[in-house]
Amino acid sequence: MTDAANRFPRALELAHTLVRSRLGAGHRAVDATAGNGHDTLFLASLVGSSGQVLALDVQEDAVRATRARCAALDQVRVMLAGHETMARQFGEQVRAVMFNLGYLPGGEKTVITRPETTLAALGAAVEMLEPGGIVTVVLYTGHEGGREETDAVLGWAQTLDQARFTSIHYRFLNQRHGPPELLAVERRDAAASL
Ligand code: SAH
Repeated sequence: MTDAANRFPRALELAHTLVRSRLGAGHRAVDATAGNGHDTLFLASLVGSSGQVLALDVQEDAVRATRARCAALDQVRVMLAGHETMARQFGEQVRAVMFNLGYLPGGEKTVITRPETTLAALGAAVEMLEPGGIVTVVLYTGHEGGREETDAVLGWAQTLDQARFTSIHYRFLNQRHGPPELLAVERRDAAASL
């Protein structure tokens, strides 16, 4: 995806820009909502063959599509499992975790991310971050339950301990159809905290 120079980046483009600036060769990363596998491939290309990417999805079609897209990449593991289990699957010390909420385009629209499991997964994700690491969450408000999920996620992000984390929220204010929003959380560098 190319970023046009003369417009604000879309939520997903900004997520990619933020992740690209801190994820590199040999790092570990999680795609918490594998979907069609585009972000898994993006993360795998940044960490390279010496890194590791875990991709999770609860939908078999998504797991199949992501495995197919990343078939040639040994650094990628794709699991049919909920993202709320990521700490158990992958342990501590990841550099980046990406979430893309809502439903899989072209997939089963009843399989959507839900506030309870999303919040559990986010809580796990920030605790897995190494200093300087980042969690990005693309948020959707257009589908049933999307506004409630977005509000729950933003409410959670506001309560994070500022000595350990910094959270930001990016959203378009005057667009009619409520385009996706972005939440990003970084784990502060130990040396930078007071
Ligand atoms: N709305 C995005 C795509 C979101 S895909 C877009 O327009 O591009 C969201 C993915 O999350 C779906 O593939 C869905 O199966 C998956 N999902 C739902 N609940 C999940 C959970 N608990 N753990 C992991 N993945 C989940």
